[in-house]
Amino acid sequence: SPITIAVDGPSGSGKSSVSRAVARRLGLAYLDTGAMYRALTWWCLERGLDLADQTTVAAAAKDLDLRLSTDPDAPEVRVAGTDVSQEIRTTRISGQVSQVATNLGVRAELRRRQRALVEELRAARGGVVVEGRDITTVVAPDAEHRILLTASEEARLTRRTTELHGTSTQEQLAATRDQVVRRDRDDASVSAFFEPADGVHGLDTSHLSFEESVRAVLDLVAH
Ligand code: C5P
Repeated sequence: SPITIAVDGPSGSGKSSVSRAVARRLGLAYLDTGAMYRALTWWCLERGLDLADQTTVAAAAKDLDLRLSTDPDAPEVRVAGTDVSQEIRTTRISGQVSQVATNLGVRAELRRRQRALVEELRAARGGVVVEGRDITTVVAPDAEHRILLTASEEARLTRRTTELHGTSTQEQLAATRDQVVRRDRDDASVSAFFEPADGVHGLDTSHLSFEESVRAVLDLVAH
Protein backbone atom coordinates (compact mmCIF):
# COMPACT_ATOMS: atom_id res chain seq x y z
CA SER A 1 0.00 0.00 0.00
CA PRO A 2 1.20 3.53 -0.76
CA ILE A 3 3.27 5.47 1.74
CA THR A 4 3.83 9.16 2.39
CA ILE A 5 6.79 10.25 4.49
CA ALA A 6 6.37 13.88 5.57
CA VAL A 7 9.55 15.69 6.65
CA ASP A 8 9.66 19.22 8.07
CA GLY A 9 12.58 21.23 9.35
CA PRO A 10 14.45 24.51 9.08
CA SER A 11 17.33 25.22 6.72
CA GLY A 12 20.48 23.40 7.81
CA SER A 13 18.59 20.61 9.59
CA GLY A 14 19.63 18.22 6.83
CA LYS A 15 16.02 17.98 5.63
CA SER A 16 16.68 18.06 1.87
CA SER A 17 19.70 15.78 1.61
CA VAL A 18 18.26 13.31 4.12
CA SER A 19 14.83 13.27 2.42
CA ARG A 20 16.40 12.65 -0.99
CA ALA A 21 18.54 9.80 0.35
CA VAL A 22 15.54 8.18 2.07
CA ALA A 23 13.47 8.42 -1.14
CA ARG A 24 16.31 6.88 -3.15
CA ARG A 25 16.78 3.99 -0.73
CA LEU A 26 13.08 3.20 -0.50
CA GLY A 27 12.47 3.68 -4.24
CA LEU A 28 9.96 6.48 -3.61
CA ALA A 29 9.37 9.79 -5.37
CA TYR A 30 10.77 12.98 -3.82
CA LEU A 31 8.86 16.26 -3.54
CA ASP A 32 10.66 19.45 -2.46
CA THR A 33 7.93 21.97 -1.57
CA GLY A 34 10.47 24.70 -0.76
CA ALA A 35 11.48 24.57 -4.43
CA MET A 36 7.89 25.52 -5.33
CA TYR A 37 8.00 28.68 -3.17
CA ARG A 38 11.45 29.48 -4.57
CA ALA A 39 10.31 28.95 -8.17
CA LEU A 40 7.34 31.28 -7.67
CA THR A 41 9.65 33.92 -6.16
CA TRP A 42 11.95 33.63 -9.19
CA TRP A 43 9.00 33.98 -11.58
CA CYS A 44 7.61 37.07 -9.80
CA LEU A 45 11.04 38.76 -9.87
CA GLU A 46 11.49 37.78 -13.52
CA ARG A 47 8.22 39.51 -14.34
CA GLY A 48 9.14 42.55 -12.25
CA LEU A 49 6.25 42.11 -9.82
CA ASP A 50 6.25 43.87 -6.46
CA LEU A 51 6.44 41.04 -3.91
CA ALA A 52 4.54 43.20 -1.41
CA ASP A 53 1.52 43.29 -3.76
CA GLN A 54 -0.31 40.30 -2.26
CA THR A 55 -3.15 40.13 -4.79
CA THR A 56 -0.85 40.17 -7.81
CA VAL A 57 1.56 37.63 -6.32
CA ALA A 58 -1.32 35.29 -5.39
CA ALA A 59 -2.61 35.57 -8.97
CA ALA A 60 0.88 34.72 -10.27
CA ALA A 61 0.82 31.57 -8.11
CA LYS A 62 -2.37 30.43 -9.81
CA ASP A 63 -0.90 30.99 -13.29
CA LEU A 64 2.53 29.55 -12.49
CA ASP A 65 3.62 27.01 -15.14
CA LEU A 66 5.74 24.81 -12.88
CA ARG A 67 7.29 21.41 -13.63
CA LEU A 68 9.10 19.51 -10.90
CA SER A 69 11.04 16.35 -11.45
CA THR A 70 10.36 14.01 -8.53
CA ASP A 71 13.40 11.81 -9.17
CA PRO A 72 15.54 12.02 -5.98
CA ASP A 73 18.70 11.78 -8.13
CA ALA A 74 17.79 14.65 -10.47
CA PRO A 75 15.48 17.13 -8.76
CA GLU A 76 14.93 19.53 -11.68
CA VAL A 77 12.69 22.60 -11.48
CA ARG A 78 11.26 24.30 -14.59
CA VAL A 79 9.21 27.47 -14.81
CA ALA A 80 7.56 28.18 -18.16
CA GLY A 81 10.11 25.84 -19.74
CA THR A 82 13.20 27.45 -18.18
CA ASP A 83 15.40 25.27 -15.96
CA VAL A 84 15.72 27.30 -12.74
CA SER A 85 17.15 24.50 -10.57
CA GLN A 86 20.37 26.42 -9.81
CA GLU A 87 19.00 29.95 -9.91
CA ILE A 88 16.40 29.33 -7.18
CA ARG A 89 19.17 28.41 -4.67
CA THR A 90 20.90 31.81 -4.88
CA THR A 91 20.83 34.30 -1.99
CA ARG A 92 18.76 36.64 -4.22
CA ILE A 93 15.91 34.13 -3.95
CA SER A 94 16.62 32.87 -0.39
CA GLY A 95 16.50 36.45 0.87
CA GLN A 96 13.04 37.14 -0.60
CA VAL A 97 11.23 33.81 -0.58
CA SER A 98 9.70 34.33 2.90
CA GLN A 99 7.82 37.36 1.65
CA VAL A 100 6.14 35.20 -0.98
CA ALA A 101 5.65 32.26 1.41
CA THR A 102 3.77 34.36 3.98
CA ASN A 103 1.17 35.36 1.35
CA LEU A 104 -1.94 33.36 2.31
CA GLY A 105 -3.27 33.26 -1.26
CA VAL A 106 0.04 31.78 -2.38
CA ARG A 107 -0.03 29.19 0.41
CA ALA A 108 -3.57 28.10 -0.49
CA GLU A 109 -2.63 27.61 -4.15
CA LEU A 110 0.68 25.80 -3.52
CA ARG A 111 -0.90 23.63 -0.81
CA ARG A 112 -3.59 22.59 -3.30
CA ARG A 113 -0.93 21.63 -5.85
CA GLN A 114 1.19 19.84 -3.24
CA ARG A 115 -1.73 17.70 -2.06
CA ALA A 116 -2.63 16.79 -5.66
CA LEU A 117 1.00 15.85 -6.38
CA VAL A 118 1.18 13.67 -3.26
CA GLU A 119 -1.97 11.79 -4.33
CA GLU A 120 -0.66 11.39 -7.87
CA LEU A 121 2.73 10.08 -6.66
CA ARG A 122 1.11 7.65 -4.21
CA ALA A 123 -0.87 6.16 -7.08
CA ALA A 124 1.89 6.25 -9.71
CA ARG A 125 5.06 5.58 -7.70
CA GLY A 126 3.92 3.81 -4.55
CA GLY A 127 4.66 6.81 -2.41
CA VAL A 128 6.64 9.94 -1.81
CA VAL A 129 9.00 11.61 0.60
CA VAL A 130 7.70 15.19 0.80
CA GLU A 131 9.68 17.85 2.61
CA GLY A 132 9.04 21.43 3.67
CA ARG A 133 7.88 23.54 6.59
CA ASP A 134 4.19 22.66 7.00
CA ILE A 135 4.02 19.14 5.58
CA THR A 136 3.55 17.26 8.88
CA THR A 137 0.91 19.75 10.03
CA VAL A 138 -0.98 21.12 7.03
CA VAL A 139 -0.13 19.54 3.65
CA ALA A 140 -0.08 15.87 4.70
CA PRO A 141 -1.22 15.53 8.34
CA ASP A 142 -2.50 12.03 7.48
CA ALA A 143 0.87 10.81 6.19
CA GLU A 144 1.90 7.31 7.29
CA HIS A 145 5.09 8.81 8.73
CA ARG A 146 5.68 12.36 9.99
CA ILE A 147 9.08 13.58 11.09
CA LEU A 148 10.41 16.95 12.26
CA LEU A 149 14.17 17.28 11.83
CA THR A 150 15.76 19.77 14.18
CA ALA A 151 19.35 20.83 14.88
CA SER A 152 21.01 23.38 17.11
CA GLU A 153 21.54 26.81 15.58
CA GLU A 154 25.28 26.18 15.67
CA ALA A 155 25.02 22.89 13.76
CA ARG A 156 22.66 24.41 11.20
CA LEU A 157 24.96 27.37 10.59
CA THR A 158 28.00 25.18 10.06
CA ARG A 159 26.13 22.93 7.62
CA ARG A 160 24.61 25.79 5.68
CA THR A 161 27.97 27.59 5.43
CA THR A 162 29.77 24.46 4.26
CA GLU A 163 26.99 23.86 1.69
CA LEU A 164 27.44 27.37 0.33
CA HIS A 165 31.23 27.70 0.42
CA GLY A 166 32.74 24.24 0.93
CA THR A 167 34.46 25.64 4.06
CA SER A 168 33.28 27.45 7.19
CA THR A 169 35.61 30.30 8.20
CA GLN A 170 34.57 32.82 10.88
CA GLU A 171 33.67 35.42 8.20
CA GLN A 172 31.58 32.94 6.22
CA LEU A 173 29.83 31.76 9.41
CA ALA A 174 28.97 35.33 10.39
CA ALA A 175 27.47 36.14 6.98
CA THR A 176 25.43 32.92 6.96
CA ARG A 177 24.26 33.57 10.52
CA ASP A 178 22.63 36.83 9.44
CA GLN A 179 20.80 35.15 6.56
CA VAL A 180 19.70 32.05 8.45
CA VAL A 181 18.54 33.91 11.55
CA ARG A 182 16.60 36.39 9.41
CA ARG A 183 14.88 33.65 7.36
CA ASP A 184 13.95 31.69 10.52
CA ARG A 185 12.33 34.84 11.88
CA ASP A 186 10.58 35.65 8.59
CA ASP A 187 9.29 32.06 8.33
CA ALA A 188 8.14 31.82 11.95
CA SER A 189 4.47 32.12 11.02
CA VAL A 190 4.55 29.26 8.48
CA SER A 191 6.63 26.63 10.21
CA ALA A 192 6.47 24.17 13.03
CA PHE A 193 10.21 24.50 13.61
CA PHE A 194 10.74 23.93 17.25
CA GLU A 195 7.98 21.69 18.51
CA PRO A 196 6.80 18.54 16.75
CA ALA A 197 2.99 18.53 16.44
CA ASP A 198 0.97 15.71 18.03
CA GLY A 199 2.06 12.36 16.62
CA VAL A 200 5.11 13.81 14.83
CA HIS A 201 8.52 12.28 15.58
CA GLY A 202 11.13 14.88 16.49
CA LEU A 203 14.65 13.95 15.41
CA ASP A 204 17.53 16.12 16.58
CA THR A 205 20.37 15.77 14.05
CA SER A 206 22.81 18.16 15.80
CA HIS A 207 25.21 15.37 16.67
CA LEU A 208 24.41 12.98 13.82
CA SER A 209 26.38 12.57 10.62
CA PHE A 210 24.48 12.59 7.32
CA GLU A 211 24.57 8.79 7.18
CA GLU A 212 23.36 8.51 10.80
CA SER A 213 20.48 10.89 10.08
CA VAL A 214 19.38 8.83 7.07
CA ARG A 215 19.57 5.65 9.15
CA ALA A 216 17.54 7.22 11.98
CA VAL A 217 14.76 8.18 9.54
CA LEU A 218 14.79 4.73 7.92
CA ASP A 219 14.52 3.21 11.42
CA LEU A 220 11.52 5.40 12.27
CA VAL A 221 9.84 4.40 9.01
CA ALA A 222 10.50 0.70 9.55
CA HIS A 223 8.72 0.68 12.94
O1 C5P B 1 13.25 24.42 2.30
P1 C5P B 1 13.71 25.69 1.64
O2 C5P B 1 14.76 26.43 2.42
O3 C5P B 1 14.10 25.49 0.21
O4 C5P B 1 12.40 26.61 1.62
C1 C5P B 1 12.46 27.91 1.10
C2 C5P B 1 11.37 28.77 1.72
O5 C5P B 1 10.09 28.36 1.26
C3 C5P B 1 11.29 28.73 3.23
O6 C5P B 1 12.20 29.65 3.81
C4 C5P B 1 9.84 29.13 3.47
O7 C5P B 1 9.70 30.54 3.40
C5 C5P B 1 9.12 28.54 2.28
N1 C5P B 1 8.45 27.26 2.51
C6 C5P B 1 7.21 27.26 3.09
N2 C5P B 1 6.51 26.10 3.24
C7 C5P B 1 7.03 24.92 2.81
C8 C5P B 1 8.33 24.90 2.24
C9 C5P B 1 9.01 26.08 2.11
O8 C5P B 1 6.73 28.32 3.48
N3 C5P B 1 6.32 23.79 2.93
